[in-house]
Amino acid sequence: MTDHMMVVHFDPVHGWSPPEIQPYGPLAIDPASSCLQYATSVFEGMKVLLALAEIPTLSFTESHMAHTAYAGPDGKPRLFRPDLNMKRMETSVGRVALPSFDTDELLKLIQKLVTIDARWIPTVEGHSLYIRPTIIGTRDSLGVAASDRATLYVILCPTGPFFRTGARPISLLAVNEHVRSWPGGTGAYKLALNYAPTFRPQQHAAKLGYDQCLWLLGDTITEAGAMNFFVAVRRDDGGKEMLMGGGTDVDVITPPLDGTILPGITRASTLELVAAHPSRATLPGLSPDVRLHTVEGELTLPQLSTWAKEGRLLEAFTVGTAVVVAAVGRIGHNGTDIVLPPHEGALGPIARGLYERITDIQEGRFEWEGWSVACA
Ligand SMILES: *Cc1c(COP(=O)(O)O)cnc(C)c1O
Repeated sequence: MTDHMMVVHFDPVHGWSPPEIQPYGPLAIDPASSCLQYATSVFEGMKVLLALAEIPTLSFTESHMAHTAYAGPDGKPRLFRPDLNMKRMETSVGRVALPSFDTDELLKLIQKLVTIDARWIPTVEGHSLYIRPTIIGTRDSLGVAASDRATLYVILCPTGPFFRTGARPISLLAVNEHVRSWPGGTGAYKLALNYAPTFRPQQHAAKLGYDQCLWLLGDTITEAGAMNFFVAVRRDDGGKEMLMGGGTDVDVITPPLDGTILPGITRASTLELVAAHPSRATLPGLSPDVRLHTVEGELTLPQLSTWAKEGRLLEAFTVGTAVVVAAVGRIGHNGTDIVLPPHEGALGPIARGLYERITDIQEGRFEWEGWSVACA
């Protein structure tokens, strides 16, 4: 963790206390606190990167060297669509009846904290400073009721690449005996209580040699690990080879926000960038002859299996703040694997184009819709 944290307390008489940025350290809370007894705990995940001093045109492999060469401590720290994190946190807080807060003020405090601890922002490709805003209920009574007291705090830590698998795609174990989210449940909110029940199934998947769980509801795919899930499927009417210049229509499909899916900011950004290709902005390295179409629609495991057999399942990938975009190499279920076509450097052309475009925006190399917000 970095040197400092931001802390602010809420009580029903005084409301929110003046925020304090203080040295990082333990919090003292009552053992009967609502967050410890009834899981009134909400979090967000954001990251901050440094703007680059120059704007080089890069290929995927060159970007590593260029980043280490051009990123300097003089660059301004940048956040990626932080207003969306603030809005989502407000929604999560409402779901567990914690006190609401001023989202603009919290964002300003986060920017201030990041500026104070800016020396902690890594300048190496694939590394960044992770921001963890958290709100916990601190009502010190065992009555099963909403917490009328809360502590909001923000901590920061430098992070490396999410998966230490290097350039290999991740593997997923499809799981439906344990369920991450369900209709009417809380899967669409970033609540701490959604994550503890995923640890046992995750350990089981790891024991069988898979990196993450692919969460199902019956046959229906919801998410992978704590990431949103996408597949790229060549349309039936295409028939021509992808990237060969003849023009190919590809559906980029992700499950819809039906209440069981966490509305990821990387997911929303992926959908917008896919929709922009090729008419508004082509994805780096992807031919404009590949016409991408976004589909927010139900995805089932048998459907994936059929597409794979037909040779139409081009790519599967996961997206999220920590990982940005990760390729999926295989999906296991009932002792067999759906195997995705391998690609040089792990990411397929669509996933790679998205990874490059999103990191270009995050690091200030590519301006898009004001998504990258400089601190101070
Ligand atoms: C945080 C999270 C995501 C990714 O959301 P981003 O805003 O893109 O980081 C996806 N699924 C789950 C379950 C999550 O907790």
